[in-house]
Amino acid sequence: MNEIVSISPLDESEFGRIKVSSRDEIRLAVKKARNAFTEWSAKPIEERVSLLLELKQLIKKRSKKIARVIHFEMGKPEWSALAEVQSVIESIDFHCNNDPQYLKPVTLSRTKKEQHVQLFEPLGVIGVITPWNFPFAIPFDGVLPSLVSGSTVVLKPSEQTPFVGLEVKKIFDELEDKGLPSNVFNFVVGGKDEGKFLVKQDIDMVSFVGSRKAGIEIMRDSAPKLHRLILELGGKDPAIVCEDADIEKTAHGVVHGAMRNCGQVCCSIERVYVVREVYDEFIALAEKETRAIKFGAGKNAYIGPLIGEFQRKIVKEHLRDAIKKGARVLVGGRSPKRKGFWFEPTLVVNVNHKMKLMKEETFGPLLPVMKVKSIDEAVRLANDSIYGLTASIWTEDREKGKRIARRLFAGTVTVNRRGGVKEGCPWGGAKQSGIGRQMGLDSVRSYTEIKHLWIK
Ligand code: NAD
Repeated sequence: MNEIVSISPLDESEFGRIKVSSRDEIRLAVKKARNAFTEWSAKPIEERVSLLLELKQLIKKRSKKIARVIHFEMGKPEWSALAEVQSVIESIDFHCNNDPQYLKPVTLSRTKKEQHVQLFEPLGVIGVITPWNFPFAIPFDGVLPSLVSGSTVVLKPSEQTPFVGLEVKKIFDELEDKGLPSNVFNFVVGGKDEGKFLVKQDIDMVSFVGSRKAGIEIMRDSAPKLHRLILELGGKDPAIVCEDADIEKTAHGVVHGAMRNCGQVCCSIERVYVVREVYDEFIALAEKETRAIKFGAGKNAYIGPLIGEFQRKIVKEHLRDAIKKGARVLVGGRSPKRKGFWFEPTLVVNVNHKMKLMKEETFGPLLPVMKVKSIDEAVRLANDSIYGLTASIWTEDREKGKRIARRLFAGTVTVNRRGGVKEGCPWGGAKQSGIGRQMGLDSVRSYTEIKHLWIK
């Protein structure tokens, strides 16, 4: 692959072409990052933070332009793209306000004879590899803690959205005019092969967000050099609807939690278990909510198309498999006959765990709902997954919600809302949804080497 032809999922038109980085260019990017590390890591953290605050201003200035690139290249509505850009501004604020505190040396003990201190030292060069579903925001999840803690970076964004990746690069280019030393931030273009090649270089950590399959390969490729790893992977997130839930609010929350970003969110609700007492009422309202989801390219749309034909194929395959095994489609289920990778918001019932759509990550606008006899059965089925990113419980009894939450294997459990990211709180997967945590107190620390300083 010498160049990537970026196709807009809105209408399949060519969005642009971009040259793929050669192996030499990737090697050089790592080398440059390594050379820049000494100067960058020696800077006081306050200086690094003040440069990142400049970054915020640059993003603010360009936010509309960036949102338009996200809209055309990835397909999400412009309001949603703008919200994505805004989330980066919040993230910069969080890191700049909190990380200096989190990275302060901790005195573990001090006596007349000796002193023990825990230091958080910069790691070196961090390879950041990212997906296409939040193509502007996710690169910053890896880049910000790396840079604040004193490491340098090589970013490889997704081959589906290289031009959004380029927007990230442009901002760092502008930041160099404001004082960022050159080569602290480096950028390479490519797909899986280039990502694999980057992982095999002399880097110190891989900060990866993407599929479980790629996460496994990255772990394997990281083994020879024992790279530090953060892996934020996929999910098959369950929702449990209790008999005492506010069904109207629940149906709204669950359907939107499943359809947001056209279901292309790692923590989308991908399966629902409803206790039989409220099943019929839930289905009637979920049907109404699903029909009301506006999809299209216009300003009022709630969701856009899928990212590409490869993603639509998975959605169709999961649906076909389920129907073959007895599932029934209540709403949607088709691709409208028009250019672009569109798929209707879809509600499915009569499902079970023999179907792919209840076991494998779909990453599309499908909401399968299963009737269960009890909360115990719902908990057992919710945990019957290799994944454990988020899970949600819907009940008016918050204490009961908390008790059920403790029984679910997931990195985040929510009560009466869909799973999601909250700045300042840890984010990551249980089971095969990942390793390590981003955001929150532990985020920046996990981008460092912990050093024990022992002074006599
Ligand atoms: P993907 O794994 O196909 O690709 C992600 C990135 O990794 C891309 O840049 C790709 O080029 C690169 N890549 C692929 N294989 C690689 C390899 N063997 N070595 C190195 N790099 C490799 O994922 P995707 O289709 O871009 O994104 C969708 C997936 O991302 C879903 O599974 C979704 O759940 C997950 N995701 C997780 C989170 C989270 O926070 N847990 C957030 C967003 C997306």
